[in-house]
Amino acid sequence: MKVGILGAGQLGRMLALAGYPLGLEFLFFDPSAECCAEPVGELIRADYDDQAALADFCERIDVASFEFENVPQSAAEFVAARRALRPGFAVLGTAQDRLNEKNLFESLGIPVPGFAAVDSRSALDQALSLLGFPAVLKTRRMGYDGKGQAVLRSPDDVETAWSRLGGQPLILERFVAFERELSCLTVRGSDGTIAHYPVVENVHRSGILHTASPRADDPLQGLAEDYSRRIVEHFDYVGVLAFEFFAVGAQLLANEIAPRVHNSGHWSIEAAVCSQFENHLRAVCGLPLGSTALRQHSLMLNCIGTEPAPEQILAINGAHLHRYGKTPKPLRKLAHITLCADDAATLDGLRLRVEPLLPG
Ligand code: AMP
Repeated sequence: MKVGILGAGQLGRMLALAGYPLGLEFLFFDPSAECCAEPVGELIRADYDDQAALADFCERIDVASFEFENVPQSAAEFVAARRALRPGFAVLGTAQDRLNEKNLFESLGIPVPGFAAVDSRSALDQALSLLGFPAVLKTRRMGYDGKGQAVLRSPDDVETAWSRLGGQPLILERFVAFERELSCLTVRGSDGTIAHYPVVENVHRSGILHTASPRADDPLQGLAEDYSRRIVEHFDYVGVLAFEFFAVGAQLLANEIAPRVHNSGHWSIEAAVCSQFENHLRAVCGLPLGSTALRQHSLMLNCIGTEPAPEQILAINGAHLHRYGKTPKPLRKLAHITLCADDAATLDGLRLRVEPLLPG
């Protein structure tokens, strides 16, 4: 069976690496000059509006998926009309726009931080008088890894933020003084079976994921599963979905969804019985899902902008290195390291040894 993947970044690369043991083949579609999935599958390098290239893509595959949510709607619709696209393109329309996302969460009874649409300078003033300071101004579309957003702590910050972000559809959100950031990775099979991974505690630096650690028996697991189930059932979703939350006391406030495998689930390659990548492919290909159970205590660290010396990481028992083969650039995700241990104290010890080896 050949799986077509829109996008050929590191998520595509890790999907292919998980799919080969199952006998799957891969064809990627990506316009970028540098595609780190290129060494692990066939690639069509073409723009998303190139219909001849998209038609060729569809002819050569059995089923399609995507590894990033900013696939243009027109390309996703084109593919969905010719091959099963899993998850479908409806979820893209929601996940590509923060306002649509927040409206959906509210309509499904999932709590969200206070928010207001901002389409003009006067709408920003109105939203600020409604929500107060501090608040976060974000672009509705194409924002990821903290890009396209500004924290407004006082009226002094408003002008600078507006001059940087104004002129496009925006959303203002109440700044949440969260205790923790959690994500829930859920997989739904083509027969409607749902499984959830243990919730993941995430730490971001400058809006980019820094560490992710699955939590066994987290008190908020049940709530995260409930909210995630509402989303996947709403979309008749097939595949892995990541749902990011702010935890405040016993409450979860929804931040955003990613309709794909997610950086906060990379630890599952080593530390879950069946990884998020394999489970996404199992779902997309109509195969039975694998167990999402945790096998070990685990922590994933991202390598951003620069990579550590591989021999130093590989000398540490319990440290697993995944390099993406990308050209280093500031703020670029180049690799990740997953630490695994049989108990929390050993995991802490591993972290103390590995963190000093990470440049920057
Ligand atoms: P996002 O791109 O929306 O996931 O934002 C990136 C990161 O910025 C989040 O993971 C949070 O650490 C922080 N952030 C975003 N929105 C808010 C908010 N409303 N309140 C507090 N922190 C936020």
